[in-house]
Amino acid sequence: MAKPNQVLLNEDILVGADLPAWFARGGGEGLAKALREPAAVISEIEQADLRGMGGAGFATHRKWAPVAAAPEGDKYVICNGNEDEPGTFKDRFLLEHTPHQVIEGALIAAVATRANHVVLYINPHQTRALAIVREAVGQWHGHERFKAIETLLGGPLSLVVVPSSGLYIGGEETAVIATVEGGFPFPRRKPPFPAEQGVRGAPTVVNNTETLAHLPGILRNGASWYRDLGLGSASGTKLFSLSGDVLRPGLYELPMGTSLQELVFDHGAGMLQGKEFKAVFTGGPSNTLLTRSDLDVPLDFDSVRQRRSRLGTGAMIVVSEGTSIVRKVAEYVNFFAQGSCGQCPPCKGGTFQLARVLNRIDTGGGVHSDLESLANLCRLLPGSGRCGLIDGAVTVVESSLHHFSHEYEALLMG
Ligand code: SF4
Repeated sequence: MAKPNQVLLNEDILVGADLPAWFARGGGEGLAKALREPAAVISEIEQADLRGMGGAGFATHRKWAPVAAAPEGDKYVICNGNEDEPGTFKDRFLLEHTPHQVIEGALIAAVATRANHVVLYINPHQTRALAIVREAVGQWHGHERFKAIETLLGGPLSLVVVPSSGLYIGGEETAVIATVEGGFPFPRRKPPFPAEQGVRGAPTVVNNTETLAHLPGILRNGASWYRDLGLGSASGTKLFSLSGDVLRPGLYELPMGTSLQELVFDHGAGMLQGKEFKAVFTGGPSNTLLTRSDLDVPLDFDSVRQRRSRLGTGAMIVVSEGTSIVRKVAEYVNFFAQGSCGQCPPCKGGTFQLARVLNRIDTGGGVHSDLESLANLCRLLPGSGRCGLIDGAVTVVESSLHHFSHEYEALLMG
């Protein structure tokens, strides 16, 4: 069994907003090593194969390179700390317990892209995280290491905290940009991508909180150290938010590529009340369900994708026999319907229609034609929105119909 919590969640570095304590434990060394040519830092991140930990698993260096290559002028790095998805609680922990690891990571990203604006974008409902990050940011201002970055950049560096709207959709990267500009978090279509046209038209990197937290360690210890932390061909470690019907739910940092079996049955101590494992809503509730036949899957971006699902944020909501899949799916689709920003009629109407049918089936009022309605909606809705919310809602419904149609049918009248 892999030893958990060795890097990001190492107890020695959970020092809260205390900057001298962070430096005393090796903090700042990664940043010092980043004070060189952008291409060298970006190459180190490429060799480390650091992926975006907020959902897509996109290669971090590929987000950075076009911003680094953009002409001099305003550039932004945004730490996305909006985290608001059911079952995901990793970023809040990092921000509350090791904020300097995240801030140092954001500063490394700024140095590597020559960005002169760093924004910590934090969910205001996470009041403790917001207060701690504000205090932590205040400690960097005027510090000699901060001045060293300004010297390298040849001008002032802005480091600020911007509370998000607290809405789920506010975590989508174009909605992040709209909020930082002072507007409502309406997502927009891509392209243009944030690297080409972000905050007020400036090249912008939006990275997830956990992604940034990995940077100080990679720069301090080198890309090969980071790669060796993973299992098989996977690189580094990953935070898993484990919840649902397990005996020991919690936040675990494990080697990327740890199997689902090990996460649930070793670290999570298995199922509640000796029940049988049924399924996992993986990476948050907007992906294809993993079932018993997937327990052997290594939890890394590529392996989970090969099972036609996504690792996403690393949230794993475990469901046992005896828990209704239909009820869970209805709950999550209700969440998406409430979270739709309403810009795209198919999303606004479609998610509410999905939720209405699911609620009817769940409460015993469903009829056979409801299954047909769900299948039709799943066929018509994908790709009809400006962002991925509608596709996520459809994916989880489709997946549950595929694996657990018998549960739906057992609830129908007549
Ligand atoms: Fe808003 Fe939905 Fe359109 Fe996304 S797909 S922009 S959430 S209405």
